[in-house]
Amino acid sequence: MNKYCIANWKMYLNQFESIEFFNSFLKNNFDKDVKIVICPSYVNLFQSEQLISKYDNIYLGSQNVSCHKTGAYTGDISINMLEKLDCQFTIIGHSERRLYHDENNSIINKKLNILNESSINPIICIGETLEEKNTGKTFEVLSNQINQIFSNIKIHKEKKYILAYEPIWAIGTGISAELKIINSVHNYIKNFIKDIGKNYCNLSLLYGGSVSENNASDILEIENVDGFLIGSSSINPEKFYNIYNQF
Ligand code: PEP
Repeated sequence: MNKYCIANWKMYLNQFESIEFFNSFLKNNFDKDVKIVICPSYVNLFQSEQLISKYDNIYLGSQNVSCHKTGAYTGDISINMLEKLDCQFTIIGHSERRLYHDENNSIINKKLNILNESSINPIICIGETLEEKNTGKTFEVLSNQINQIFSNIKIHKEKKYILAYEPIWAIGTGISAELKIINSVHNYIKNFIKDIGKNYCNLSLLYGGSVSENNASDILEIENVDGFLIGSSSINPEKFYNIYNQF
C-alpha cells in the first residue's frame, strides 16, 4: 500500500511564506518510500510546482476542485485547470468545506466522478462530529459517507484512491484521537471497503486530526494507518519534516 504524508496548508501561507517554507523544507533528504503531497492554496499552486518538480517523491495537490467540468462558475477552479498545473492530487470533502460551504456527500460524489476520469488522484475526507461520536454513530456515519461518495463510481485499477479518516472533533484541537479509536475505526473502514467490493482498488487509508511530531510515530504503528493528512503542523517545515522522518 502507498504511504503518504500530506500537507493541507488551508488558508495559511501566502506566496512569500510558501517560498520560505520550500527554501527550508527542500534542504532535507527525501529517501523514504513515502509520497509527500503539498496542498497549498490555489494561488500558490503554480509557484509550488516550479519549486518541487525535480523531487521524485514530492507531489502537488489542491485543497478543493469544482464539481463542474467547465462553465460559468465564477470563482471556481476546474479539474482541467489543475491538470494543466501538474497537480496530481486533490482533497475533496474536507470537513471545513462541508461546514463552511455546505458541501455534502452528493457534491463530493460528483467531484469524485469527474476526478475519476481525470489524471488527478482524489484524497477523500470522511469523519464524524463530536455529537455523532458521543451518541455511538461513528461507524454508521462513516459507512454512509463512503457509500454515498462512492455511489456509481467505477474503480480504476491504475488510479490511487486516498481516504482520510478525519474525526471532526480532533481537527485543529491539538489533541488527536486516541490510538485505540484510530485502530478500531481504521479496521472498520478497511473491512467496510472489502464488504462493498472495493478492496481491489489501490486505496490508502490516512489519519488526520492534530497529527504532530509528538504523536506521529505512535499512530504510524497502527496496522491500517497508511499515512497522514496534516493541517497546522504542515506549515512549519521543521515540524512537517520531523513527522515525515518518523515513517
Ligand atoms: C486537516 O485540516 O485536515 C487537519 C487534519 O488539520 P490539523 O492537523 O490542524 O488538525
